[in-house]
Formats: sequence, C-alpha cells, structure tokens
Amino acid sequence: MTKKIIIVGGGYLGAELAKSLENHLDVTLIEQRKAFVHAPAMIRAIVNPTLLDRALMPYDNLLSVGKVLHGKVTSVDESGVTLMDGIRVDADYIVISTGSTNGAAFKPAGDSIDDFRAVITGLHAKLKAASSVAIVGAGTVGSEMAGEISYGMPDKHVTLISSEASLFLQMPPKFGAELTSKLNDAGVDVKFGVRVNNLESLTDPYSGTLELSDGTTVIADLIIPAVGSHAVSDILARLPNINIEKSGRVKVDNYLRPSSFANVFAAGDVASGGDAMTIVAVGRQVPWLSKTFKALAAEQQLAEIKPYEPWKDGKSPLFLPLGPKKGNSFLVIGTFGNWITSAIKGKDLFISKYRKLFGLED
Ligand SMILES: Cc1cc2nc3c(=O)[nH]c(=O)nc-3n(C[C@H](O)[C@H](O)[C@H](O)COP(=O)(O)OP(=O)(O)OC[C@H]3O[C@@H](n4cnc5c(N)ncnc54)[C@H](O)[C@@H]3O)c2cc1C
Repeated sequence: MTKKIIIVGGGYLGAELAKSLENHLDVTLIEQRKAFVHAPAMIRAIVNPTLLDRALMPYDNLLSVGKVLHGKVTSVDESGVTLMDGIRVDADYIVISTGSTNGAAFKPAGDSIDDFRAVITGLHAKLKAASSVAIVGAGTVGSEMAGEISYGMPDKHVTLISSEASLFLQMPPKFGAELTSKLNDAGVDVKFGVRVNNLESLTDPYSGTLELSDGTTVIADLIIPAVGSHAVSDILARLPNINIEKSGRVKVDNYLRPSSFANVFAAGDVASGGDAMTIVAVGRQVPWLSKTFKALAAEQQLAEIKPYEPWKDGKSPLFLPLGPKKGNSFLVIGTFGNWITSAIKGKDLFISKYRKLFGLED
C-alpha cells in the first residue's frame, strides 16, 4: 500500500515538498488560502501593486497526482489532522509547515487573498499620498522596503530606524556598510542605535510621531513596522513534549520532529532546529525531507537515515536588493554588489521560478 502523507501549509516548504513527493507517496497538501503568497515580491508590490497579478499564485496547477485540500487545520494527532469544518484526514506521516506571520502588508493575517490584496493596495494608496515614510526595523524586510520606496518613489523622504549599530551585524561588515551607503545615496536617512519607545502597532502601518530612545522624534505620514516574523504554531501546542519558543517556533530534533509523536514532523519557519526563518533554509530542508519520506515509504527506518543538518553559521546565502538594480548579496565566498544581486534576485524576485513550480504561464 502506498504510504500517505499530509502536509499542513502550502507555503515554500509545503508546496515544494508536496510537489517533490507526489509521485512517490499519497500526498495531501492542506492549505487555508486559495493562492500562494510569494513574500519577497510583496515588498515591491506595496510600491507597484500590479506585481500582485504574478506574485499571488493559485494552487490549481501545483500538483498533478497529489491533492490540495483547502481548509484550516485546527488539530493534529499521531494518526492525522482535523479541519475547522470537521473534516478528518488520516495519514502515515504528517508534516506541519504552517510558517509565520509578519507585517500586515508583508504576509496575509488570515486566509482571504482578496482581503490581503486590499491591504496592499490600501497601503500603496497611503504611500502615494505620503511625503514622509518611517520604517521601523532594519532587517531584510525593512531594508528592502526602504530600497524599493527610494527606487520606485524617489520623491518620498524615507527614514529607516535600526536599534543596532549597523546593518546586518551577523554578516561580514562590508555587506552592511555597502548597503548603508547605497541607501544613503538614494536619499534614505538611516538611524542606528535607537529604539522606538512608542510604536503603536507591530503589524499595521499608521501615521504619527515616533519617539526615539535618544530623545529625538520622527514625524511621518506613514510609519511601516518591519519588526520580524512570528511563527504560527498554535495547532502544535497540545502535542506531547512540545517546546514553543518566544518567537512561536517549535523546537525540533535532528529529524525535524517537534514532539514525542515519531511520525509528526515540522519544518520551515515554524520549526526551530538551527536554521533562520528563510526560504534559503527551506531550500535546504525540502531535499532532506523528500529523501527521508521516500526512504520511509520504501520501509527504511528513520534511524538508518542521516539526520538533517541546518545551515552552518555564516554559510547561508543572503540576497538583499534595493529595488531592481541595486543591492548586495552574500554567497559563502564573499559579498557581491549590484550586478549579481540584480541578476539573481532584484530584477525578477524569483517570481518566474515559483510561477513555474505552480504550473503558471510566465
Ligand atoms: C516580506 C517578506 C519577504 C521575504 N523575503 C525573503 C527572501 O527574499 N528570501 C528568503 O530566504 N526569505 C524571505 N522571507 C522569509 C520567507 O518568506 C519565509 O522564510 C517563508 O515564507 C517560510 O516558508 P514556510 O513554508 O515555512 O511558511 P509560509 O510561507 O509562511 O507558509 C505557511 C503556509 O501555511 C498556511 N497555514 C498556516 N496555518 C494553517 C492551518 N492551520 N491550516 C492550513 N494552512 C495553514 C498558510 O496559509 C501559508 O500558506 C521573506 C519574508 C517576508 C515577510
């Protein structure tokens, strides 16, 4: 009998894993939304919402053998999952890849793609009307947002606020230093080493005055919080021996299992096993999971399979475009500038790659 696998969450992890396994196991991918949201393109879509037509991708053509079931999973156990509408699906293996949430315009808060479109187009209208924009948080999303606005709407006065001493402290210093000078050249005012004392929302843009820890203020027509992701792990909370971190991520063992249920796995942003919350990490986890489930389906034991190894510190690549033409990339051997960053990510934001995965015309 063909082994059954349920994958909960059709984001980067779930969609790619389902596709890679559909000819080997009986695959059911359960996803609450009607379309996949290609997060890296949402930053540019706030500046240019026409991008949404290509970057929100329906699930209809993703699988040809496996099934996509649309619905919200509300509980997980050793033999399967239950959906909000009461539907029960059983399987031999269960992978939880429920991902994470972020700022309201960066990732959808709920299951409605129409509502998410409305949030992005609404924010675009506010951005168009604004003269001054303050972005709170200078991680990848905040820094890219500053770059996209300064490229696409150069008339805006953009302030990027970081609590750290420089951009991307975890990377070689050249990476952050070059990005800072490119942002400055584009007119972005980057403030380092200051915290916002009165941020009104961690997710929703608003207009107002930011009080900074150095006693100064920033008045902005539009304040965009870009303070990071929070993992979506509520359906795992009641599993035996689960350990949920402050970030919402669940601790996993070196076979990517979050609890004492031997056949329940967790991966992608929801899982904390040494990787960052990135598509780059997903790109390492999917091949291991795919190989592992094919081996398990062929009656191999998990103990015979080599455990998963996360990216080693400082080895994971990072592409940071500032609009389509500029930016910096880190690729193991060093830091690369505008040309490489534009060619690999900035120009297309990997949209074509994912449209191909989802069986869509480019
Ligand atoms: C704006 C932005 C830009 C980014 N750019 C990059 C980048 O350029 N490079 C990079 O490496 N990383 C980037 N990231 C990080 C990247 O988006 C995440 O690492 C990635 O989304 C993780 O994939 P995932 O499959 O684990 O989760 P997600 O992509 O979050 O997918 C989870 C899926 O699970 C579904 N789901 C959740 N709960 C349920 C449930 N109960 N029932 C059914 N379905 C459910 C959701 O609807 C969703 O489709 C970016 C993040 C943001 C916010």
